[in-house]
Amino acid sequence: MNSTFRPILVIGGGIAGMTAAIEAAEVGYTVVLVEQAPFLGGRVMGSHRYFPKMCPPTCGIEINIRRIRQNPRITVHTLSTVEEVTGPAGDFRVRIRKRPRYVTGELSLDESVAAQIDSERPDVGNLGMTTTKALYLPHEMAYPHAYLVDREVLSEADAGKLHSIVPSSAIDLEMQDDEIEVEVAAIIVATGWRPYDAARVEHLGFGRYPNVITNVMVERLASANGPTGGEIRRPSDGEVAKNVAFVQCAGSRDPDHLPYCSTVCCMASLKQSRYVMEAAPDSRATIFYIDMRTIDRLAKYYHEMLDEERFNCVRGKVIQIEEDPGSGDLLLQVDNTLPGEIARTCFDLVVLATGMVPNSADSRLPLDLEYDEYGFVDPSVKTPGVFPVGCMLSPCDVSTSTKASTAAALKAIQRLSGVATGE
Ligand code: SF4
Repeated sequence: MNSTFRPILVIGGGIAGMTAAIEAAEVGYTVVLVEQAPFLGGRVMGSHRYFPKMCPPTCGIEINIRRIRQNPRITVHTLSTVEEVTGPAGDFRVRIRKRPRYVTGELSLDESVAAQIDSERPDVGNLGMTTTKALYLPHEMAYPHAYLVDREVLSEADAGKLHSIVPSSAIDLEMQDDEIEVEVAAIIVATGWRPYDAARVEHLGFGRYPNVITNVMVERLASANGPTGGEIRRPSDGEVAKNVAFVQCAGSRDPDHLPYCSTVCCMASLKQSRYVMEAAPDSRATIFYIDMRTIDRLAKYYHEMLDEERFNCVRGKVIQIEEDPGSGDLLLQVDNTLPGEIARTCFDLVVLATGMVPNSADSRLPLDLEYDEYGFVDPSVKTPGVFPVGCMLSPCDVSTSTKASTAAALKAIQRLSGVATGE
């Protein structure tokens, strides 16, 4: 074990940060892993299947959680943020703020306790499509597997109720933020991404019409532990969606929104079209695209999809979506570029392929990093001892992101070992 070296700090506990932490720790280096959510796993936890193999991400996450839990060289701080970084590369001093869980861990809690209170909060894991109680376990696979209290929504009446039904040693609603300081030699930054706000693409109707949803919402609908138990149902009336349109570049490649290509959403819509077709023998999926951006092995998946009888790909830009207020169905007006005509088609559910925005677009870390105008870190400007990865640099899929994390772990180790790389 390389206990002579200072730890490596990994900021972000999604798939990229977890990978970097595991890679460094499993070759003997100590790691401090900081995540602002109450659990590890990030956005991947909300996905139903990975493309192109269509395997559930939860398998890989479960293995990674086990590797982290069993590795004494990794210290995990959830509900935590990096507040300040001082000192030079190799000798960083980092101040970390830890928010309270309000649950002490003295007693194991379960749903029977949570069920006794009334205060509720939007379930962030289900993108607000369901709610949880204010005392909640984020999800069944959460690591740490521990309840917490959303103090902002807990009513005074429910606070009193919790005091009466749970021993005071189990829940402490007076807990305060805590601060710790760590000294680290290198920092890997993996703060991830969020979906573009689809409501800003006004002509597509998200937020106005209930049956216009986004690609990240479909992942939750298709998941057995999602809000509909794995069935893709229309929000307006709960009917199973049989005729589904996917609208590509919903906000991406658009000078009024995100001018760049988000790279993963063509493949995501192909994958989600398969979810639709697998759900019922008479269901159909249609993708409206500008260019279908699938390369290498992903192109094979695309071409196999084109052979599917219930799948259709239309090269055209959706210029307007309107709702039939009686049925909730959606009328798409499409600039169909191959025949060069405007077409009108009706669907019972529309999925917007919304793009990726780096979390660093509006939430900057106290690190000396250079950003481009969209909030991605500029990879051409090196900051000694600091290694950004994944969607901090550009939109990318999980496979690309985890490879970059492994490379960043090696770079950090080289920094600790005094290998002259210039980084
Ligand atoms: Fe548009 Fe496809 Fe690029 Fe996404 S990946 S922005 S849908 S071209």
